[in-house]
Amino acid sequence: MKLLCSLSFDELKELLKSYGQPAFRAKQMFSHIVAGRELDEMSNVPKELVNRLGDDGWRALGVKIEASFRSATDGTVKYLYALGDGNVIEGVLMRYKYGNTLCVSTQVGCAMGCRFCASTLGGLVRDLTAGEILSQVIVVNALNAEDGQRGVTNVVLMGSGEPLDNYDNVTKFLDLLSCEDGLNVSKRNVSLSTCGLCDRIRRLADEGYTPVLTVSLHAPFDELRKKIMPIAERYSVREVIDAAKYYFNKTGRRVIFEYSLIEGENDGEDCAKELCRLMRGFPCHVNLIRLNYVKERGLKSSGESAIDKFRKILDNNGVSCSVRRSMGSDIQGACGQLRRNYIEKKDNNDN
Ligand code: SAH
Repeated sequence: MKLLCSLSFDELKELLKSYGQPAFRAKQMFSHIVAGRELDEMSNVPKELVNRLGDDGWRALGVKIEASFRSATDGTVKYLYALGDGNVIEGVLMRYKYGNTLCVSTQVGCAMGCRFCASTLGGLVRDLTAGEILSQVIVVNALNAEDGQRGVTNVVLMGSGEPLDNYDNVTKFLDLLSCEDGLNVSKRNVSLSTCGLCDRIRRLADEGYTPVLTVSLHAPFDELRKKIMPIAERYSVREVIDAAKYYFNKTGRRVIFEYSLIEGENDGEDCAKELCRLMRGFPCHVNLIRLNYVKERGLKSSGESAIDKFRKILDNNGVSCSVRRSMGSDIQGACGQLRRNYIEKKDNNDN
């Protein structure tokens, strides 16, 4: 499927020129696309053009909201999107005082195999295109825009998938997202979370991309990390930290490390102390996360006292850290849970 939203303004202008359209048409259609309208909703665009584009396989957007779930406690909204090929993906909109943050997916499923994560349970189905990633932001932004305020102010690439395993589409998405004529989301307001593909972290920095880099570390020892995250077979903890330092030195942006606390696995004093040793002299931040329970995975979050103890060791050693607020846990806010449930229900109905 060819998506108009994956074109830059100049590319759209070129395309419409080849359809014999006047120059103003690109501006007209571009603003419809950014506002989340599909071809047949563009009231001032001639029907004949809409039909011709449709016949040639063009659509404006790559996702449709299939369902949404609003948390009763914190206003977080979980979205299930349908893609053109029948696959589904998910995302979460979190409301903070400073604005709305949308968490987007970059792949259908995931190949990384982290042991606590629901997104990777069925493996990788396919990469999302840049247009499909952007479409998630466009439709949620349109739905939540109020009184001239944008509906999405911040974007985190932290949904299903490993963004750096889909490098070309993700970087194209970053370009489109910050494009001034388009959604114009400030580059300062974008974060990218990775399980630590070191060569790609360096490439991102070398190519001038500057999202806030969030590295899912989850363990300070190689052997332990291998038990939790298969990617640790490819890159050692040392290599991950070195790549993060490289990114910081090149971009000047403080790196965040994610550390999900799993009861009896990575929440001991030895882990906390080793983490401090690794972070020494590196101006970064550690986000401690309560593990969201995923039934297929069976791993449990550490209890509050273990979390507290872990945090104190980091604090006492001068490591900047915070315990992440859990949001949307009543609506399956964790990575991949909603899609997983949707697929299970569908399978049960089909049988
Ligand atoms: N592949 C990327 C981005 C997707 S995962 C990455 O690994 O960073 C986004 C974040 O959610 C990661 O930090 C991941 O470790 C975390 N995560 C996944 N499943 C989780 C769960 N059940 N509970 C808590 N955090 C989880």
